[in-house]
Amino acid sequence: MILEHYIDGAHVPSISGDTFTSLEPATNRPYLTVSAGHAEDVAAAVAAARKAFGDGPWPRMPAGERAATLRAIAAAIETRDERLAALECRDTGLPITQARGQARRAAQNFRFFADVITTLGEDVYRVGSAQLNYVLRKPVGVAGLITPWNTPFMLATWKLAPALAAGCPVVLKPAEWSPLSAGLLPEIMEEAGLPPGVFNLVHGIGEDAGAALVEHPDVPVISFTGESATGRVIMRAAAGHLKTLSMELGGKSPLIVFDDADLERALDAAVFGVFSLNGERCTASSRVLAHAPIYAEFTARLAERAAQVRVGVPDDPATELGALIHPDHHAQVSEYVRIGVAEGARLAAGGARPPHLPEGNYLSATVFADVTPDMRVFQEEIFGPVVCVTPFGSESEAVELANATRYGLAAYVWTSDLRRAHRMAQAVESGMVWVNSQNVRDLRTPFGGVKASGLGREGGRHSIDVYTAAHIVHLATEDLPVPRFGTA
Ligand code: NAD
Repeated sequence: MILEHYIDGAHVPSISGDTFTSLEPATNRPYLTVSAGHAEDVAAAVAAARKAFGDGPWPRMPAGERAATLRAIAAAIETRDERLAALECRDTGLPITQARGQARRAAQNFRFFADVITTLGEDVYRVGSAQLNYVLRKPVGVAGLITPWNTPFMLATWKLAPALAAGCPVVLKPAEWSPLSAGLLPEIMEEAGLPPGVFNLVHGIGEDAGAALVEHPDVPVISFTGESATGRVIMRAAAGHLKTLSMELGGKSPLIVFDDADLERALDAAVFGVFSLNGERCTASSRVLAHAPIYAEFTARLAERAAQVRVGVPDDPATELGALIHPDHHAQVSEYVRIGVAEGARLAAGGARPPHLPEGNYLSATVFADVTPDMRVFQEEIFGPVVCVTPFGSESEAVELANATRYGLAAYVWTSDLRRAHRMAQAVESGMVWVNSQNVRDLRTPFGGVKASGLGREGGRHSIDVYTAAHIVHLATEDLPVPRFGTA
C-alpha cells in the first residue's frame, strides 16, 4: 500500500508516480512507501485550497460553526488515540507511553482552538459620538504548514487547528522521516464533516515539495517548525513574495541549578527534560548549568540517573528512551559524542549503543561533564539524548553562559530565591522561562523563541494572528464635515 496525498477530498498519487520509502526506527527496515510530491502536486493542492477559500463555505462560516467542526475533529482523534499512538510509536521510535500523551494533546489542540475562536473579543474604538472604528479579522488565504519529524501528529495539529479555526484552507507538508500519522488526517477530517479542499496533504522531500509550497504565489502564509538552518532557507525563498512567516526553530536550552534549589526536583527535571521524547525535543534542557558548590554532586547524580534510563524497543511500556528517528540522525548524534570526547569533555554516562539492542537507532542516555562554552557540544543543537554539564560561580556567570549560544527557545531556572528567579527570567535571552518547573504551560501563552530559535509566537490568540489580517473599518454615525475641494 502507498501512503498518498490528499487533495480536494480525494487520495491521489503523485502526478509523476514517484515514491519514497520510510524506515522503521526500531529496526531500520523499510516498511512504508509514500507518494513523493513535486511542484505540480503542490500546485494542485494549492489550487483546491484556493478554490475553497475563494467560493467555499469554510472562510465564511460563523466562528461557532467552524468551532463545532473542530470539536468533531477532536472527537474523531480521540476515538483513534490508541491507533494513533501505535502508528506514531512505530514511525518515530517514540516510547509508546509518551506517544499516547502526544495523541491526547493533538485532540486537545482542536478543542482549545475551538474555544479560542469563539471567545476572541473584537476591538472597537469610538471617536467621540460620531465615529466608530472596529477591527475586522479576516483569514489571509491558503496556509502552508511545514512540520518536522519529532512528535509529528501533535505538531501538525498545533498548526492545523488555529489555521482552520481562523478560516484558512491549508496545505500540510509533513516531514519525510515520519509521514505515517498524517495519513490518518483525511479520514478524521471527513468524519468531522470538513468541506473538501479545506484540508490538503502533500507528502514529499523538503527541498522539493516543501520548497514548492514556500514558492507558491497563492500561499500568503507559511507556518514552519524545523531546524534554524531550514528556517533561513525558507525566509530567503519567502522574501520574494513578502509572505507572512511563523517560525518555530531549534534550541539549546539551559537548565540552571543554583545551590539553594530543591536538588531532588531539579535532578528529576534535568533527567526528564533531556531524555524524554528521545531527546528529540525543541525545548530539551540539553545544557545543564550547575552552581559550583553543587556541581560535582549534581553531575555525579545526573550521570547515575542517566545510566538507569531504560533504553528499549518503542512499543514496550517500560521503555523510557526509544529509537532515534533515522540512521542518518543516529549517525549525527553519535558523531557529536565523538566530537565531545575529542574536544575534551568528560563522558560521564552513556555515549554508545546499548549492547542489548544490536540493530535500530539506539543510543544510551549520555552525559558530558566539564563542558566549556567554546565546545561544539555546548553550542550546537544535538537533538538527541545528550546533555552537557557546565559549572558556574555566580549569578552573572550563569546568565552569561545561558546566553552564550545563538539559540533562545527555553530556559529552566531552579532556585528557592524568588527575587533571583525574577532577575534570571529578565536576564536570560529566551522566549520561555520556567522557574522550578518542567515545561508545562497554559496553551493561551505565546510559545516561541528569540535569536536563532524563531520568529513569531504560536498559542492562543497569537496563533490566530498568524492566519488572519486585521482590517480597520471606520464608520461615521453622523454626517461629519467633509472638506470641499474644487468648489471655488
Ligand atoms: P527540518 O528543518 O529538517 O525539516 C522540517 C520540515 O521542513 C520537514 O517537513 C522538511 O521536509 C521541510 N523542509 C526541509 N527543507 C525545506 C526547504 N528547503 N523548504 C521547505 N521545506 C523544507 O527539521 P527536522 O529535522 O524535521 O526537525 C527537527 C528540528 O525542528 C530541530 O531543530 C528542532 O529543534 C526543531 N523543532 C522546533 C520546535 C519549536 O517549536 N521551536 C518544535 C519541534 C521541532
